[in-house]
Amino acid sequence: MTAQLIDGKAVAATVEGEVRDEIARLGFSPGLVAVRVGNDPASEIYVRNKARKARELGLRGDELIFSESMSAADLLAEIARLNADDSVDGILVQLPLPKQIGSRKVIDAIDPAKDVDGFHPFNVGLLHLGRPTLAPCTPAGCIRLIESTGVPIEGAQAVVVGRSDIVGKPMAAMLLGRNATVSVCHSRTRDLGAITREADILVAAIGRPIMITGEMVKPGAVVIDVGMNRVEPSFADRIAHDADKTRLLEKAGSVLLGDVDFARAREVASWITPVPGGVGPMTIAMLMKNTVTAAAARRHA
Ligand code: NAP
Repeated sequence: MTAQLIDGKAVAATVEGEVRDEIARLGFSPGLVAVRVGNDPASEIYVRNKARKARELGLRGDELIFSESMSAADLLAEIARLNADDSVDGILVQLPLPKQIGSRKVIDAIDPAKDVDGFHPFNVGLLHLGRPTLAPCTPAGCIRLIESTGVPIEGAQAVVVGRSDIVGKPMAAMLLGRNATVSVCHSRTRDLGAITREADILVAAIGRPIMITGEMVKPGAVVIDVGMNRVEPSFADRIAHDADKTRLLEKAGSVLLGDVDFARAREVASWITPVPGGVGPMTIAMLMKNTVTAAAARRHA
């Protein structure tokens, strides 16, 4: 069997269409503010892309950029100001933050009604209670990708590898909320392969290139690969069986790999996300969706 590809760009475009429709229905442009502290190059790109996508879809997207040396007190004062600003519907603070600022305190300070990343403990609690909330964007995007296959989540054996607060745990909660039977694996899990091989739906959110081999995938499974790992030429031997990735590595000097061995897993799975072009495009789309949801809820529109 060769798996069908789950096209993250196409599903993200559908979500973006929903966002445009919702803005038209609301009759105003919800405001998203993306906060960045310091000059981490990856954060710079993420924040710029989020604000740009917001504006492209008809939201008001602003970037607030502060210096690396900013104090926790000053950032908390900025968050308080954004909380109080009625024109701001969504606040996101790009992580990681500089070490003098504890990210937990900052997340806790965001008004839960404006917490479009879905990281505030109040929203996390609602998610685990199965109540409506602003859910974290990456796992919410994974749910949309699984739904796009038409394979039912209800009653499926779902295995999530990874238990981070931003991906693994909320992913497990969302699958459970949709009546899957869920196992969560992590670095202390014994015999990982024996568990992943039971998965009708397998979500890998580990951060280790091609750790999930073809043998770890159940025939016919839906495989969602959250991992984004850039590897250098020293990794060439490990991807020698993957002609496409090998070519990209030779051409560019580095290549982006998922947590799943795509070339092998696609021979076993029924559906699989590529990296890039799978989960990645969904995260920003779901952030936009959360912003219009937050705007509608806060303004009772
Ligand atoms: P994280 O916070 O580092 O968590 C990684 C998880 O993987 C942990 O729960 C860890 O277990 C588990 N793990 C590590 N080694 C393992 C092993 N050998 N066997 C089983 N489990 C193992 O990472 P994250 O933030 O969730 O991100 C995971 C990946 O997704 C990264 O590659 C990241 O770049 C990517 N990501 C992509 C997007 C996107 O938009 N596409 C968004 C977010 C993240 P312990 O808890 O026991 O340490």
